[in-house]
Amino acid sequence: MIVMQGKGVSKGVSSGKLYFYKRVDTTVTLQNVEDIEAEKARFADAQEKAMAQLGVLAEKAREEAGDGAALLFETHAMFVEDDDYVDSVMEIIEDAQCNAEYAVKQTGEQFAAMFKAMDDAYMQARSADILDVSQRLINNLLGVAAGGIDADEPVILCADDLAPSETIQLDKSKILAFATSGGSGNSHTAILARTMAIPAVCALGDDLKEETAGRFAYIDGETGQVIVEPDDLTEMALKNKYKKQQELKELLQTMKGQKDETLDGRELMVYCNIGSPEDVDAVLANDGQGIGLFRSEFLYLAASDYPSEEEQFQAYKKVAAAMEGKRVVIRTLDIGADKQVDYFQMAKEENPAMGVRAIRICLNRPEVFRTQLRALYRASAFGKVAIMFPMITSVWEVRECKRACAAVMKELDAEGIPYNPETEIGIMIETPASVLIADALAKEVDFFSVGTNDLTQYTLACDRQANDLGKFFDPYHPAVLRALKIATDAAHENGIWIGICGELGADLSLLQTFLAIGIDELSVTPSAVLPLRAEIRKSIAKTCTLEKLEC
Ligand code: PEP
Ligand code: MG
Repeated sequence: MIVMQGKGVSKGVSSGKLYFYKRVDTTVTLQNVEDIEAEKARFADAQEKAMAQLGVLAEKAREEAGDGAALLFETHAMFVEDDDYVDSVMEIIEDAQCNAEYAVKQTGEQFAAMFKAMDDAYMQARSADILDVSQRLINNLLGVAAGGIDADEPVILCADDLAPSETIQLDKSKILAFATSGGSGNSHTAILARTMAIPAVCALGDDLKEETAGRFAYIDGETGQVIVEPDDLTEMALKNKYKKQQELKELLQTMKGQKDETLDGRELMVYCNIGSPEDVDAVLANDGQGIGLFRSEFLYLAASDYPSEEEQFQAYKKVAAAMEGKRVVIRTLDIGADKQVDYFQMAKEENPAMGVRAIRICLNRPEVFRTQLRALYRASAFGKVAIMFPMITSVWEVRECKRACAAVMKELDAEGIPYNPETEIGIMIETPASVLIADALAKEVDFFSVGTNDLTQYTLACDRQANDLGKFFDPYHPAVLRALKIATDAAHENGIWIGICGELGADLSLLQTFLAIGIDELSVTPSAVLPLRAEIRKSIAKTCTLEKLEC
């Protein structure tokens, strides 16, 4: 038995084989080849493999979700064998005497550009499919497993840490849990694990050794342990814990349909955080009363080029419609810092967390901003959409955002496109600057949502990604809690609501403090809704105190 000790960042017990994430460079370069026929044969092999993979995926989709779901993979299979596509690949191999990977990449980009330029919205959306198919063929040529996990069964995924752009590519059906040597509770691997409701342990450091690959292990997201080949007694205790966890889950199901209300009648809005339209299923399954944070940047992270207005509109509309009139707060893109997107071609920064990120990128690149705002306003005709801007530090930024919204509404009016002119506009409170001028900011918007992950980082001057700051990184620091109180008072004095969408919102040990502060909404990972509801229903708001704000 080997016990590795880290920090538990997503609760639960799970067991399976340890699999170490392989970071493979899939950059395609132009290479001169001598044997053209051999290169064509390599392409044919990759094609054959792709057809087999797509066949399996189509069948799986059909079994799980019917014929409609299988159609996507069947369309991809048609592209793989499309005469024009294949002819183009062959011609490039011959004319440039080059490697098949390069020919596929060139062909994929040309065809995607062609689709994107079409008038029909459906055809435009096919450009993403062409790029997807081309990447599958390139992966097959390079011998890289799609989704980064080359295993037949679900595994405990081990890595140093995973960038958001890597987590987005992962085949989630193959992951039982995460174990990382680096990372922190606020890193996006941890956030993803909580969204998927699977255990995660980070900061395992040198304990996480690659020589344990393939061995059977348990992971305990509460104690922060990864236990390889446990002895009988330890295994029995872990199995017991797993059983209790399942029983608790069942018990929590009785909370469904109940109000998020304290014993003395104080209502809290309990909403969910999501990263993609697919996460809405988890929101509905856990009875979330709305979506308090849709991290729209994951649409950009998942794409290999700027997502078009139509692609974004479809994604936002899907979420808004699925929530059937419940509030859906969509945050405009928040890239930069740890969320890097290659095609944005951002200049390298010494300290990206304090660099050109989030709203700064949008205000510097009005065309990118306009495309997203158009998609958001169009989606507002299909549900209760609210728009939220991240990383605000100044009043002028908010005014500029509002001007951009007004310009987009004017365009849609002129084009006769429906939208909701009453769409709520809010901002994230994530910087000490926004707390200190919260009174002025509250006069500009309809709501505040506190991003405690970044607010803690900037208030305490502690990098949220770092795992070695120990006691210096204290999410319960009175400075952070006082910041919440200042922002809440400013919001209420100006008649607007305030929520928390950072990870702290789901911390049950702070619920009493949030009630005492007067927070109106908590937006948490879907699996945290019912435990939170159970706790709210046991609380008495008027007896809650601000004692945690004392130093
Ligand atoms: C936050 O900073 O608390 C937040 C919710 O945003 P993100 O974690 O995406 O930076
Ligand atoms: Mg943030």
